Amino acid sequence: MPDYGLKGHAAVVTGSTSGIGQAMAQALAAQGVDIVLNGFGDPAKIEAERAALEKEAGVRVRYHGADMTKPAEIADMIGFAHREFGRLDILLNNAGIQHVAAIEDFPIDKWDAIIAINLTSAFHATRAAIPIMKVQGRGRIVNLASAHGLVASPFKSAYVAAKHGIVGFTKTTALELARFGVTANAICPGYVKTPLVEAQIADQAKARGIAADRVVEEVILAAQPNKSFVEYPHLAGLLLYLVSDMGASTTGAALSVDGGWTAA
Ligand code: NAD
Repeated sequence: MPDYGLKGHAAVVTGSTSGIGQAMAQALAAQGVDIVLNGFGDPAKIEAERAALEKEAGVRVRYHGADMTKPAEIADMIGFAHREFGRLDILLNNAGIQHVAAIEDFPIDKWDAIIAINLTSAFHATRAAIPIMKVQGRGRIVNLASAHGLVASPFKSAYVAAKHGIVGFTKTTALELARFGVTANAICPGYVKTPLVEAQIADQAKARGIAADRVVEEVILAAQPNKSFVEYPHLAGLLLYLVSDMGASTTGAALSVDGGWTAA
């Protein structure tokens, strides 16, 4: 991996105890970025992973357990990062959940939770990070959206609404901060084989009585023209570009990493 000139920077990555967030935290740490991890999970496992990343990458790694449905906890996490590292260069709003159901059957509490975690938490974190980044005269806000921020699928109403919302929020953030050296962009991945998606494959295989590889090709990757999962390095490459000095002119963009899905 090339050197992106990020040594000594500090980042908060929400939802980084699993999947994409964890991989992006590792990619940033490998570039010398101090990290605040966040997310749910077994405390002993989280602590083991925190300590391993700190040792492996030779950076400071902290953990903050803010629940992304709780505005005060989110603001506290941003303040914690600033207190721990004395700066905050990168905010990656990544935490997200999914629920699949028809609109008329969609549980109201699931709708509320998806909007809170996948959309509103980014507002609270960004709101708290902006004053710090403005004073620094530099900052990078990256929102983990989705191909579902650009196009829809049936039975994912809350997720699609939240992801379209975060693309709009990203654009407004970019416009408000354009004169302050702070950029805001959305990354819009297609399917990534995270623990979340692995579980979906197993469930679908069972439900349909077909093999896992058929589920992948016929169900999961049906919309993805290259018929391949997006891999963590494909996302890390874009993230590192965006948060480096090379990304200074890229702001307000919704950038697809989806094997051609949204070109169709
Ligand atoms: P994941 O389930 O592997 O990880 C989600 C993370 O969010 C975990 O660390 C979890 O603890 C955390 N989280 C969930 N609710 C939380 C809460 N209330 N407070 C704090 N943390 C919370 O999922 P993933 O697949 O890695 O997804 C990460 C992001 O990428 C999500 O925003 C998702 O919508 C987006 N995304 C995923 C895919 C995919 O195919 N996996 C594709 C496009 C976009």
